[in-house]
Amino acid sequence: MSNFNVAKFGGTSVANFEAMSRCAAVIEANPNTKLVVSSACSGVTNLLVELANGVQDTQRRSEILTKLAEIHNAILDQLESSDQAASDVYAILDTVTSLAEAASIQSSHKLTDHLVACGELMSTHILAQLLKERGLNATRFDIRDVLRTDNNFGKAEPQLETIKQLADSSLVPLCQDFVVVTQGFIGSDSEGNTTTLGRGGSDYSAALIAEAVEASGLEIWTDVPGIYTTDPRIAPKASPIPEISFSEASEMANFGAKILHPSTLVPALRHDIPVFVGSSKQPEKGGTWIRHQVESSPLFRALALRCNQTMVTLRSANMFHAYGFLAKVFEILAKHKVSVDLITTSEISVSLTLDQTGTAGGAPQLPEQARIELEELCHVEVEHNLCLVALIGNNMSESKGYAKQVFGTLEDFNLRMICYGASPHNLCFLLHESVSKQAIQKLHTELFEG
Ligand code: ASP
Ligand code: MG
Repeated sequence: MSNFNVAKFGGTSVANFEAMSRCAAVIEANPNTKLVVSSACSGVTNLLVELANGVQDTQRRSEILTKLAEIHNAILDQLESSDQAASDVYAILDTVTSLAEAASIQSSHKLTDHLVACGELMSTHILAQLLKERGLNATRFDIRDVLRTDNNFGKAEPQLETIKQLADSSLVPLCQDFVVVTQGFIGSDSEGNTTTLGRGGSDYSAALIAEAVEASGLEIWTDVPGIYTTDPRIAPKASPIPEISFSEASEMANFGAKILHPSTLVPALRHDIPVFVGSSKQPEKGGTWIRHQVESSPLFRALALRCNQTMVTLRSANMFHAYGFLAKVFEILAKHKVSVDLITTSEISVSLTLDQTGTAGGAPQLPEQARIELEELCHVEVEHNLCLVALIGNNMSESKGYAKQVFGTLEDFNLRMICYGASPHNLCFLLHESVSKQAIQKLHTELFEG
């Protein structure tokens, strides 16, 4: 293991000159930080996505291009000698302009990835220059030379062995001499096409890079000072968690706590790299350490909320004491590439929620053809506007004495589905969207504010 620390900064952390300067201070504060992974400046990826979707209206297109130039110019203007960085950024903006035009005629996933990657390609030119001006021996590196993926544009799969080899031969030696600034979220396939890991993917990139260089630590700097017992916007008394285990943090990410991209912890866990989450705005506030071994493993750790849930309920009298029914159901779902998230069954019915991966946070739909085939087998009901409240903790399936407290708190709520027992780390409830925040508030008061 090297003694590198990898520091990743999110979009809001690099939103403007002041924000970038705070990142620089964070980098300077840890002399082991040799690799810096940056997102695009705040708002930039959204604009690029709009362009990639194909903007016919030339006026709107030029508005977006102007906005993109403004965001970057505002930072370049505050650098001391911005000439090189500015010409690098302008060259990328030229690429954006021509790709946007092409997308307005015909878009594709490949074109989209090339276009949306430009945000990170620009922000890193600027951040590297800013670090140099503050006296750091910094250099910018194009991560597409290392982060090899397949060509599943929009949600590319990293190819770990190749990434490791490429990192060993180019990135690791560079980190001996420089603080290397590189892009999150983007990669390239074996033919050199630009790919992306999916929205919010720069946390995941940072973890993959940390894994490849065998980093001793990974810092994720965002706009909140760590992981909280729940979203403080829902429950104002939510408190920061100083230390949490990989399993608990993964559950939180999976259940919709928006702090980390859900895949981030996978590489970190594989290589046992401790992950720190903190706010680059208020680094003095500390943050959360995510580690393998933690000092305390409380029964209740946190509450997470994930909305836009789709529940499918299948009912059939044929299921009664029969075998093979679920197998048929899953065969149909698999055929239509429907991934199931939660499931509960009774003698003649089964309820399941659909996995949200790839829906960009929206509600997943049951494909029409899958519905038709399921209807040949049983009665099908699809419900939307549901939210999942997850109580996350430790040893929950082996502990007793808390059910009364939890269910007592929720006695006035209509619980549409309950999942318990398969994981020792969670107990989940599906409720109607209109009451889900209230459920979090009540549970938080009862279980975390005592
Ligand atoms: N810039 C990308 C996005 O906004 C990746 C990231 O910031 O994680 O999705
Ligand atoms: Mg992010």
